Amino acid sequence: MFRKIRILLLLVVLLFVALGTWRSDSRLASWAYVTRVAVYPVAADDSPTTAQFIRELDAASFAAIENWLQREVKRYRQTQQASVQIRLGAEIKTLPPGLPNAPNTLDIMLWSLKLRWWAYRQEDGENIKPHIQIFVLFHDAKRHVGAALPHSIGMRKGKIGVIHAFASPEQTGQNAVIITHELLHLFGATDKYDFATLQPVYPQGYAEPERLPLLPQTLAEIMGGRIPVSRERAEIPKDLSVTRIGPTTAEEIGLLAP
Ligand SMILES: [Zn+2]
Repeated sequence: MFRKIRILLLLVVLLFVALGTWRSDSRLASWAYVTRVAVYPVAADDSPTTAQFIRELDAASFAAIENWLQREVKRYRQTQQASVQIRLGAEIKTLPPGLPNAPNTLDIMLWSLKLRWWAYRQEDGENIKPHIQIFVLFHDAKRHVGAALPHSIGMRKGKIGVIHAFASPEQTGQNAVIITHELLHLFGATDKYDFATLQPVYPQGYAEPERLPLLPQTLAEIMGGRIPVSRERAEIPKDLSVTRIGPTTAEEIGLLAP
């Protein structure tokens, strides 16, 4: 009896999760509304540098992302009314659940549920719930010399992004590129680079695939991630001013729909 009730409850929860996902997906893809994004800073370490950097963040810290999105969306949809509003949420004092090393499918499923539950519980005093939650885990660069940061993720189903970034003013431009890349995953954009070499894939990962000569490019396609300068080398864009939404990404996120 109890077992049946438990299964029934679980099915109801899953149904609501599925329904919520479908509604938010179609809402985002229509570009007919304002999409509210909250960016929550999280200190990934106990460094005073990180704490200081987070204290100094303000609404202007993410304005570049909002302005860039407005400009890029307009290039494809002149008549659209929608915009993406980004606000700075309160600092989150707990870390999101981590993924075990070499996870299997069940690990990933459990972790994704845990992450969604963790994100759901983060209250920041705002009455209006954001459509998208982005958690930026800031790391002190001095503690990461020669070591790469963990991978950032954009979980489309939960409308949650978990981003690893350096707590340094010089990195603000590159951090904005990473945040925007993950944010567009949540709108349905796919990666357009080779995971092994990190080279953007031609043509969809190029901002100007028609350019002659093709290489070096001067801009990065946001989901290609880097500026291809030769067949073997691609540079990390310094900030959003040298990145664009290419046609394939535009189609994936619903910008080319009538
Ligand atoms: Zn990506």
